[in-house]
Amino acid sequence: MAGRIILHCDCNGYYASVEELLRPELKQVPMAVAGDPKSRHGVIVAKNALAKKFGVQTGDNVYTARQKCRDIVFVTPHHDLYHQISQRVNAIYLDYTDLVDPFGIDESFLDLTPTMHLFHGKGPKDIADEIRRRVREEIGITISVGVSFCRVFAKVGSDYKKPDATTVIMREDVARVAYPLPVSAMLYAGRKSTERLEMLGITTIGALARAKKDLVVRFLGAAGEQLWRYANSMDDEPVRSYYTPREVKSVGRGMTFRRDIYGADEVRCAIFALADPVCASLRHEGKLAGGVSVQVKDPNFKSRSKQVLLKKPTHLQKEVAETAYELMAKNWNINLPIRSITVTCIDLCDEATPNSQMTMFDEVDQRREKQEKIEDAMAGIRAKMGRGAIRFGYYRNEEIGVGDGKRHGDPQAEAEEEE
Ligand SMILES: [Mg+2]
Repeated sequence: MAGRIILHCDCNGYYASVEELLRPELKQVPMAVAGDPKSRHGVIVAKNALAKKFGVQTGDNVYTARQKCRDIVFVTPHHDLYHQISQRVNAIYLDYTDLVDPFGIDESFLDLTPTMHLFHGKGPKDIADEIRRRVREEIGITISVGVSFCRVFAKVGSDYKKPDATTVIMREDVARVAYPLPVSAMLYAGRKSTERLEMLGITTIGALARAKKDLVVRFLGAAGEQLWRYANSMDDEPVRSYYTPREVKSVGRGMTFRRDIYGADEVRCAIFALADPVCASLRHEGKLAGGVSVQVKDPNFKSRSKQVLLKKPTHLQKEVAETAYELMAKNWNINLPIRSITVTCIDLCDEATPNSQMTMFDEVDQRREKQEKIEDAMAGIRAKMGRGAIRFGYYRNEEIGVGDGKRHGDPQAEAEEEE
């Protein structure tokens, strides 16, 4: 696909910018958004420019952040507002094309190829600058825009200069602008891949582009091939329309605990609490889980995950939670400290799929049918009276921040990936 015009628009320091929009006085002080500001273990998910000057980093806990900056102000995240403003920002993008594909809450790919002719002789950079100005004036936050012929270098471009800047990387600019950059600047270049490439002496995008494809594939497999293709400007992945419904592939929820948790009781409690919103989403989407995956982080944020397929697809909280718990009990020493757990339902299928319908032939099925009735009734009550109206009694532990009726989110997962 030659001659495409792809933009990547990225909001600068999104969470912190929205908080400053809400309370402009926060601009004058070092400020960080923390998952749980009252706890010293609460994790920083975003920070403003002043806090950054003090060396405060995303992923620091509240205690460490305060050590770096004594006067830092912590604020609680306003996730609903982040979503609302994200929609308003995307609405501006949609004035230019319907090929707007959000890539996380604060960034989107745009494909202007089919609509360029509508903008009366304006070039891609003019349009990028116009979008940037409109977001600044109409919403009050800044974005950086990368303009390119493919997604990969559009994203490199939006990262290249910020805040509030446009960077153009067309084919003729790739060698000059992108080649000197580290491989990690490229889309989907994870830590593992970049470390392996480093072992091969490949540290920059240019070195990867010039490397022998076979060598890269031998050491990194399919992921390596993809990165090698990207480095060589081979990315013809289309930008999806904003209005194409997305297939939900998995539903997960994670949580970093108020303190490290230990032992069967606390792990069980946490897992049941996590399975609750996960199964509520499954019901909402009309899906059943074909498998369950658990990711566990230790106090050093080292993470490991395991997954298992279910004999029968389910949306029952009890079944998802028990499967997740067994998976953990089998694969981890749950008496060692655990910092965070994420429970994800995978291999989703539609509720209506015939082979997943409940039958009542044996005792197991009858028990299932009963559980189904209980959880159905709970879902009905919640639909009328709100999520906090009813929950299973066997999970609630204020000490670790579980089952307190507050939103369960994983500050790590939700942290902005910037810098
Ligand atoms: Mg951003």
